[in-house]
Amino acid sequence: MISVKLIRYTPNGERLVAVSAKQSLSRKPFMYQWDKMSDSEVEVWIKETLKRNHFSPWEHSVYTFVIENCSRVCTHQLIRHRIASYTQLSQRFARMTGEYFGVVKPPRIALNKEAKRIFDKVVKESYEAYLKLLDMGIAPEDARYILPQGVITKIVVTMNARELHHFFGLRMCVKAQWEIRYVAWRMWQEVMKVHPLLFKWAGPRCITVENISRKGEPLSLKDALSGKAGFTIERCPENIPREQIPICLRNAAKILEELK
Ligand SMILES: Cc1cc2nc3c(=O)[nH]c(=O)nc-3n(C[C@H](O)[C@H](O)[C@H](O)COP(=O)(O)OP(=O)(O)OC[C@H]3O[C@@H](n4cnc5c(N)ncnc54)[C@H](O)[C@@H]3O)c2cc1C
Repeated sequence: MISVKLIRYTPNGERLVAVSAKQSLSRKPFMYQWDKMSDSEVEVWIKETLKRNHFSPWEHSVYTFVIENCSRVCTHQLIRHRIASYTQLSQRFARMTGEYFGVVKPPRIALNKEAKRIFDKVVKESYEAYLKLLDMGIAPEDARYILPQGVITKIVVTMNARELHHFFGLRMCVKAQWEIRYVAWRMWQEVMKVHPLLFKWAGPRCITVENISRKGEPLSLKDALSGKAGFTIERCPENIPREQIPICLRNAAKILEELK
């Protein structure tokens, strides 16, 4: 089962973003604002930066996740996001054998008897060929060429709050593939536990685009999902018309239930 855990984050990250944002306007020392700013003012400043698309102060709050048992297909998509740091299990130095060998099976294949049979057969053959090559003295870095793309891996990922917003916009969307979408929704759940003020208005791009043009209070992902608040944009960046966006959003979130 794919595991996504937030293991480190900037303490007081919400305050850090809010006070940093205020630095551009206030002549008072940083620590004065740090000590004096009330919690409600922290929320006001975060909301202001969000509405004005002034995200540079968000870069000061940083998050490290450990993602395990996802496929290399998924990490290949993940590492396309360049404003981040990554450390991944090496297939050159670590042998993918015994309990450390596994392949993520897409749900649509797992549910189709014949597709599952073909998938399992080829995975088994590929693994056996890998073992054989290692037995022959072939280096793991060369033997691994025979492994499927779905082979499991683990990766440490560090992103700041600005990049996370961008990443969530692209990868929580229903257009993103199911596995990275699951990882993105789980990462969002993790950061919501620690910094809800920074992430309650994050989500797929329908939410972020809505919040750039929206008048008054930003739209939170939870309110959009529950139907408590609606969209004002005519179409999302993926061209879904306003009335269908909530359905699309709920379809994107279903991955959390499907992979539980
Ligand atoms: C649904 C979906 C389908 C995709 N399909 C494909 C595909 O078929 N083929 C494919 O190759 N990729 C595909 N991608 C990957 C996509 O093209 C991006 O590489 C990936 O989403 C990272 O996005 P990004 O470049 O915006 O973000 P990041 O790398 O996270 O960067 C964040 C932002 O920083 C800025 N930035 C970063 N680096 C630079 C730079 N060098 N110059 C200028 N500005 C920069 C940009 O504003 C960028 O949006 C797909 C992505 C999605 C979500």
